[in-house]
Amino acid sequence: MNIRSYAFEEYVERVTAFHGFAAPGVLIGGFMVHLAHQHLPQDGVFDAICETAKCLPDAIQLLTPCTIGNGWLTIINIGRYALTLYDKSNGEGIRVSIDPDRIEAWPEINSWLFKLKSKKEQDYQLLMEQIRESGMSICRIERVRVAPRFLEKKHRGKIAVCPNCKEAYPFADGAICLGCQGEVPYVVSEVPDNSFKKRCVCLPNHVIK
Ligand code: ZN
Repeated sequence: MNIRSYAFEEYVERVTAFHGFAAPGVLIGGFMVHLAHQHLPQDGVFDAICETAKCLPDAIQLLTPCTIGNGWLTIINIGRYALTLYDKSNGEGIRVSIDPDRIEAWPEINSWLFKLKSKKEQDYQLLMEQIRESGMSICRIERVRVAPRFLEKKHRGKIAVCPNCKEAYPFADGAICLGCQGEVPYVVSEVPDNSFKKRCVCLPNHVIK
């Protein structure tokens, strides 16, 4: 059973290169994307919504043109292992999830999804075999219509320089940027002097001109 244009082994290699290891979730996700894609109309441009931030977004990014960076993939983290591919002109889409009833026949997948075993207890080889063999058969498929707010183009409006940090930010966020409003996730402890020639960290005597 192929995953988009890849044989299963090829997809495993691509997942390993992109995701760091052949994570079961990204492999199952491959079949999920394949199934959703099969049910999309031939023409039209589609976007993606992913209902979890774990693993599944990487299957979407590997197998479709939709990425976080280009804005065609939106993650709505509601904790469900499901994805939707939809036509962005009208919101008509296909949602694919994992069907708990159907994985009963595949005990290793079942204990992976429901976290019944620790990683150590997991039989990875058996899990891989069951993922490969079950393919799309563990998936549930539905037709959906995506809410209009996902179909509108997101405009950021005017960009201004924050009077506090002196960086560019969307002016709609307020008089100062969201970082300076307290949302920054770190504390800056040292501001390196930018006005002098910098020394390269990897080569101590190398001066960057
Ligand atoms: Zn700022």
